[in-house]
Amino acid sequence: MVHVKSFLPDPPTLPPTNISTFLLDSRDVPDHLLYIDGLSGQRRTRNEFKERVGLARTILGSKVENGGVGLDSQCMVAIFSENCMEYATLVLALCSLAVPFALCSAYATQYELAHFLRISKATHIFAHSDLLETALGSAKEVGIPTSGIHILEGARKHGFYSLENYISKAKSANMSMIATKPVTRNQLAFLLFSSGTTGLPKAVAISHNNVIDCTLQSLVWLQSILASPSPPVAPPNGQLNTALGYLPMYHTFGLHSYCLRPFVVPSTVVLIPRWNTNLALYLIPKYRVTTLPSVPPIIQQLSNSPDLTKTDMSSVISIASGAAYLPPVLAQKVSQQLGGAVKVVHGYGLSEVTISAINMTVEGQLGRWKYNPDATGALIPGMEARTVREDGSEAEYGETGELWLKGPNVALGYYGNPKATKETFVDGWVRTGDNFKIDREGYFYFQDRAKDIMKISGMQVSPAEIESTLLNHPGGLIEDVAVAGVQISLDQTGANNDELSRLGPRAWVVLTEKGRSLGEKRVAQELNDWLKSRLSRYKQLTGGIGFVSEIPKIATGKVLRRQLVENYAKETQGT
Ligand code: AMP
Repeated sequence: MVHVKSFLPDPPTLPPTNISTFLLDSRDVPDHLLYIDGLSGQRRTRNEFKERVGLARTILGSKVENGGVGLDSQCMVAIFSENCMEYATLVLALCSLAVPFALCSAYATQYELAHFLRISKATHIFAHSDLLETALGSAKEVGIPTSGIHILEGARKHGFYSLENYISKAKSANMSMIATKPVTRNQLAFLLFSSGTTGLPKAVAISHNNVIDCTLQSLVWLQSILASPSPPVAPPNGQLNTALGYLPMYHTFGLHSYCLRPFVVPSTVVLIPRWNTNLALYLIPKYRVTTLPSVPPIIQQLSNSPDLTKTDMSSVISIASGAAYLPPVLAQKVSQQLGGAVKVVHGYGLSEVTISAINMTVEGQLGRWKYNPDATGALIPGMEARTVREDGSEAEYGETGELWLKGPNVALGYYGNPKATKETFVDGWVRTGDNFKIDREGYFYFQDRAKDIMKISGMQVSPAEIESTLLNHPGGLIEDVAVAGVQISLDQTGANNDELSRLGPRAWVVLTEKGRSLGEKRVAQELNDWLKSRLSRYKQLTGGIGFVSEIPKIATGKVLRRQLVENYAKETQGT
């Protein structure tokens, strides 16, 4: 029976503390360059940032009749933006006011954003001005009044105020500063969207203490790494790390890497809205970037770039990979392309454990571990794990089972969704939906996903979401549908700038009489157009559409996706 505890010392347990107090007020960190806007070159130091958070807190938290925005802990603010300088200002200002917020994907269509707004019960939106029209459309759908809509960053549009306008107003009006609000244990801090093990995106509720606990877990882990003979993460001569900030801040990996961790392990972040290989290869030598938080598809894009070996990458010390399986050969290849000294460190986690649970081990760490490129890693401090068979019994060492995790970083549950919470959060454990093997030395090996969720470009794609969207096509063309991920060739993905994501969603469709009379080609066109209007780019059917007479299911109605995928693989191999 496998039930493993982290071998590292437990992190300290703090009394209920506001994230903002923990990051900005209780840590005696010298001022340093915190953010550089990779596009404009604008810079902000830690002290300048802290001052802006104070001003933002003051005006956002002041009553409307006193010239403020009137936010309090009963509100829910949806943030809808790509990475920008003000993202972190808003995040820390809302934390300091104990106002919960929901981190919405910047790729979201009006339809998807409306779903996020509904399930988070959003009362206000801060949108990037480039996304304002989508935000206005979704807000109208769910009934958020225009008085609740604000611009996070970018040009002022349609008379809406931006965070910059508010901060300037607070400064010029010399408003008296509002103090950071205290929080109680398990007080909601923010919502992350995840489909969990199945179904539509749900809102994972993260508390202030979840964030602080997972930060402390990572600090204890870091100490154990730094105490090893060749630590892979520290720049020489006490220099600060400089990270390239392109991972989306609405995902937990980007949020922690750029909005939260730079205050605990002081570092500089060069922010760009999203990944762009050419821009990255221009900015890395320009700002002497030392670390690239990353996801495997981006590492592969980097590795495939003909410009990589022509670029001065000598400043880069480490690439931190997460959010999806990193094939060891890819890690090795990119490390060699970068001169062999760059360490690719990887970790495993999920939104339901705030960020991370398993991290790569290094030689001599704790005198116990070796660098084991085949393993996903070992448990981070304060965590427990077990692997569970399909029938609910405990797996043995070396046997594949679903990973269940326990620790101070396990989320509060799914916001406003007790049914899904009960299914996934069981007696303090969270069911990950991922299959792992654990060996007797404490190494964890990712096997595959027991859950239906696919990872495309590091982002979750839920077959159930695509299926329900297709079934809602208003034309009455399809009777039944199943979606699953298939391996697609690069030619099929075309120039979608996504060479790495070789997995693509494919739909198997049963037509109605009406659909049959329209013909498969026209139906496929209709369905693809419909999906484009409803779902994000990375959720499109890059694996194509197949027409079948029925969807294979077991008696309970569960779709046999694996069978569909295996049959498809056989068919395509034969061609
Ligand atoms: P998210 O909540 O969006 O971060 O997605 C979490 C899911 O990403 C996990 O349940 C895994 O399926 C997948 N994932 C994250 N890290 C890894 C990894 N190192 N190896 C394999 N899958 C991973």
